[in-house]
Amino acid sequence: MRPPDWLHTVDHSGSGAIHEIECTSCLAGSGPADDMDAPAVWALRHARRTGHTGYRRMVTDFQRAPASDG
Ligand SMILES: [Zn+2]
Repeated sequence: MRPPDWLHTVDHSGSGAIHEIECTSCLAGSGPADDMDAPAVWALRHARRTGHTGYRRMVTDFQRAPASDG
């Protein structure tokens, strides 16, 4: 059984989660944003302009491991 201090926790000391959408047809990307609003608008415009309909949504958040005590 894992010792409880192996648990990672969400790191609130830096930025929040980063949201991004990538086109699976041409790999163009929305760029990182603080929420999904701007990436969603980017994807809609990209779909209208290119006809590309497949997208990958990526959300990155940050975890912090407990500091080693030895
Ligand atoms: Zn595309």
